[in-house]
Amino acid sequence: MERELVVEKLISLKNNGQSGKGFYDKIVNKVVSLYNKVKGKKPAKNHILKDGEKHAVFKTKDGALVGAKFAGPGSKTYDNLKELIKENGGDLTKALRSENFASDIDKISLIHDIRYDLFAGDSKKIREADQKYIAKAKEARKVEGNFNTLPAMAGIKAKMIGEDLGILNKDKFSGKAKVLPEDERILYEDVVRRLEQEGYGKQRPERTRIPMNKVECKVCDVFISKKNKTHKGSNKHILNVKIANEK
Ligand SMILES: [Zn+2]
Repeated sequence: MERELVVEKLISLKNNGQSGKGFYDKIVNKVVSLYNKVKGKKPAKNHILKDGEKHAVFKTKDGALVGAKFAGPGSKTYDNLKELIKENGGDLTKALRSENFASDIDKISLIHDIRYDLFAGDSKKIREADQKYIAKAKEARKVEGNFNTLPAMAGIKAKMIGEDLGILNKDKFSGKAKVLPEDERILYEDVVRRLEQEGYGKQRPERTRIPMNKVECKVCDVFISKKNKTHKGSNKHILNVKIANEK
């Protein structure tokens, strides 16, 4: 519960209209470093959020908090990718190894950001990118649990639901086609090719059929008994709704 509250607070800060540029990143950097100090944790690879980055916070296997390098809005994807490669002696293969990412969500977000840049202006490919994101995030959730995965999943899901309902404009999100600088495009295509070979290109599987006597809660992505009258009032559901709304 305590952990959920921290995430909730950080998310509300992120979306506070008065917060302005550079507020969220400073708060997160401060919270992360204080938390680790108090808990005596020394994370190997914390990403200090750059000005304007509204990245997620992950919990590592050792219980340290770290800033995400890629997951979240405002990401300076190309700079952060170059940084990651540099940290690995200029070796892209080494840079993309899973142990370099505090959460698989960060790796999934890297390829998602890249697809958004490569496919800008193509709403069909952007939707595919979102579906691939969700397919991998679901796998990550089974391993890492909710803390690292749920806020990111809820955001992408809410966006897709909004588009399907016609509330959000697909073309607005897919943006205008971009002409990326040559070296950037080549590196991006290389990263996509490598990560897809690792399984980061799977489409979202067809939804399993809803079992008899159950209903689906799309917000929480679970099946619940038709007789369950308390789910919508549960803390977990309310938190998920809040996260989805505020993204
Ligand atoms: Zn629910």
